[in-house]
Parts: sequence; structure tokens; C-alpha cells
Amino acid sequence: MSDTCRIIALANQKGGVGKTTTAINLGAALAKAGRKVLLIDMDPQGNASTGLGLARGDRRSTTYDLLLGSDPASDGIHGTQVYGLDIIPATTDLSSADVDLMASSDRSRTLKKRLDELLRDRDGYHYVLIDCPPALNLLTINAMVAAGSVIVPLQSEFFALEGLSQLMLTLREVRGSANEGLRIEGIVLTMYDRRNNLSQQVEADARQTLGDLVFTTVIPRNVRLSEAPSHAMPVLDYDPACAGTKAYLDLAAEVIQREG
Ligand code: ATP
Ligand code: MG
Repeated sequence: MSDTCRIIALANQKGGVGKTTTAINLGAALAKAGRKVLLIDMDPQGNASTGLGLARGDRRSTTYDLLLGSDPASDGIHGTQVYGLDIIPATTDLSSADVDLMASSDRSRTLKKRLDELLRDRDGYHYVLIDCPPALNLLTINAMVAAGSVIVPLQSEFFALEGLSQLMLTLREVRGSANEGLRIEGIVLTMYDRRNNLSQQVEADARQTLGDLVFTTVIPRNVRLSEAPSHAMPVLDYDPACAGTKAYLDLAAEVIQREG
């Protein structure tokens, strides 16, 4: 693994806050900036895989195999139509990995070990993005143990900050047990509506409470972002000029800026 490979988990146990949208489009934006990116779909829903155009029948081997497979050659890496962006896809069988991992003594370190092996022979990925499921389960814990940092998408709505304390507690536990160096890369406000007072209020609260942890870039509510996955492409290719594209390019620039 190259020293410069940064492993970032996209996590929030709250459902529908923009984890997958951010994984796909931040991944694509980093790839457009010349970085080599591997996206790991850690969610049995497989939305990131579908959104990047991998039909179920095309998912030869998956995150389940990466975690629990016996054949080391089937690493699950698939190319996508975006140059520089690869993916290890997921299918619903990943939901049983949660249970199967329970039986393992090193249950929370399984992804880290497998990923270390995988990346050792592949000098070249600058970023590994892990799209987590909407739960603080063993799959998410595995992602947090394998990662160097976490990006938390936060939907700009009333209860957004409420779930955050639970997430922070989990991060602290992971730091205390298996991954001392785990950082918060940043919190990104999603589905932001400038004309809506509530969005502005959530942003003000988040910046006041969390300070520099909140990315300067906010992701606007943009219908193009929700349409793109059904066309099996990142928004950057679906509509290069839309506000969603601009936002994810800006977010990628912020992430890259923090490389140094
Ligand atoms: P889950 O917890 O189920 O995995 P998630 O956190 O990954 O969900 P997404 O799937 O990215 O969330 O987004 C939830 C829904 O909101 C999707 O239909 C997506 O297309 C839409 N969406 C996400 N971000 C935006 C946005 N900025 N503007 C408009 N729609 C968005
Ligand atoms: Mg998702």
C-alpha cells in the first residue's frame, strides 16, 4: 500500500442523509482530479454499486467475499465507467456478513486485515472510500477500524444533530479499542436549501458546535443528484454544469487540500 493511500469511511447511522450520494460523487470528483479511487460498498442495499452502473449480474465477487471469502484471488475490484474510479460492489448477502463476522474472534478487524492484504499488492490507490450502511453495526465498525478518517454527511433538517452524539460515542469507542488514530475528516451538510430558514439554522448550529470539523462546502438539494443514479452515473457525468456537480468538485478540492 502506498503511504499516501487515505481510507475514508462515509458514516451516519441515520438513513437517507446522503452517504451513498457523497461516496459516489466525491469518489468521481477525486478521480477527475487525477486521484485513483477505490469505493467499497459496505451496505447490503448495494446502492453505490447500482448507482455506478453495476447490475446485479455483473457483481462477480463482492464485499462479502472480501470479508469472508476463501479465494484470495477474487478481490472483488470492478472497474466503472469513470476513469480512475473502481468499486468493490455489494449484494444483499452482505447482510449475513454481520452475523458471520460475529463468529470470528477478530470480528471488528476483518476488513482492515483484508484491505491491508489487498492494497499491499496494489500500489496506486490514493483514496479508499467506504460507503457504510445506516446502522452502527459490525459492518460500520469494520469500516471505522479500517479507516484513517470518517466523513459524516449531515442532512440539513431539524433532527440532524441529534444522532450525532451516538455516532461520536461510537467513534470514541473505536479509538479506544482498535483504531487509536481514527480522525473525523469532516462533517458535510447535505440537501441544503438556501431559501429555507431551517437549513440555515442547522448550518449555524453545526458550525457553532462543531467548528472547523464542518466542511466549508455544503451540498445543495439538487434534483440532478437524485436522478443521476438511475442513469447509472455520477452527477459529474450526468450533468457537468449542475449545482450538485459543482458542490462535489468543491468538496473534493477541500478533501485534497487536507492531504498535506
Ligand atoms: P441509506 O442510509 O439508505 O444508505 P444514504 O445516507 O446513503 O441512505 P443517499 O442514498 O445518498 O443517502 O440519499 C438518500 C436519497 O436522497 C436518495 O434518493 C438520493 O438520491 C437523495 N439525495 C441525496 N443527496 C441529495 C441532494 N443533495 N439533493 C437531492 N437529493 C439528494
Ligand atoms: Mg446509502
